[in-house]
Amino acid sequence: MTPSYPTRRPTDAEYLEEPAVELPAELLNLPWIDVHNHAHTLSWDDRERYALAGCRSMVMVASGYHWTPYKPVRAEDVRFLWDDAINRRAAIERNHFFEAKLGLGVHTGVRIEDPDALLDAMGDYLELEAVVAVGETGVTPAQHVSAWDLDEQRAVVQAQMELADAHDLPILLHTPNQSSDGGRSYRPELGIPGYEKNTSLGQPPVIDAENAALEAVEIDVEAADDAGLADEQVVASHADPNNVPYLMENTDCYVSFTIGHSWLVGVSAADVADAIDEYGPDRIMIDTDCANVLRTDPFALKRAIFELYRYGIDVDAIRQVVLENPRAVFDFTA
Ligand SMILES: [Zn+2]
Repeated sequence: MTPSYPTRRPTDAEYLEEPAVELPAELLNLPWIDVHNHAHTLSWDDRERYALAGCRSMVMVASGYHWTPYKPVRAEDVRFLWDDAINRRAAIERNHFFEAKLGLGVHTGVRIEDPDALLDAMGDYLELEAVVAVGETGVTPAQHVSAWDLDEQRAVVQAQMELADAHDLPILLHTPNQSSDGGRSYRPELGIPGYEKNTSLGQPPVIDAENAALEAVEIDVEAADDAGLADEQVVASHADPNNVPYLMENTDCYVSFTIGHSWLVGVSAADVADAIDEYGPDRIMIDTDCANVLRTDPFALKRAIFELYRYGIDVDAIRQVVLENPRAVFDFTA
């Protein structure tokens, strides 16, 4: 029965009355886990946004060369990043109430002098209860500042996979995105707006392949096999349409879609929804990769929860992707 409204003329209130739509109210309070961010580099207010949006747990990744003050990067600079994250972690939990754990690794986005010094020290760090992942790492087609020979990169990545296996930890891969060409480039002296990086220090690629981004992922998976690390312990972050079919059809790895800086990598909740439709939710996660060096959105994961529902994904699948899969793989307790 159409209710009658005392409005002067018909409004949407009448037209939207039937059929009744069941709204997914449980999504308003669904806890979620961000398996890849750099929240220890964010402001207090940005971290509070995670809490306000219902973040239950997160993996704060300390490995990125973006935060080392000197170029070229030395092992001790990366070690400082690990120590800095350890230093901040407990206070972050007390300030914001979510569970904040750590990922520690050697990123290959820039060549690091004497990486063995880091690999030798890493085992003791991985014993810490706060450390729930190795990474982010994974071979990178081109470096910043100083190119890193592909074989040397692969050795550093595989060594970290061996450590992950020995310490029964998952590894976070930084899979290179095949970013879409905007058609027009920015002033080179300014770089990419929203990304604090001196692009003039970019080095020529060390992977010579038509699809270097995918080639890099295939090399990573091969390295995991050689390291004896089970695919189920590999979480390929920055999943995109270029690497998802390979990862889902040829491996048992998890994929994690990075949606905190869609403006840069062109990946959004629509890609996540497509992947869930195609492969089911069992090996899919979402992360924000929020960091202070680029324009990122701490609300991105919460927004994606609603967006996935709008795209037709059911509540159980959403819960599995944003909460249950990360909880199982990274051994979260919350
Ligand atoms: Zn990252």
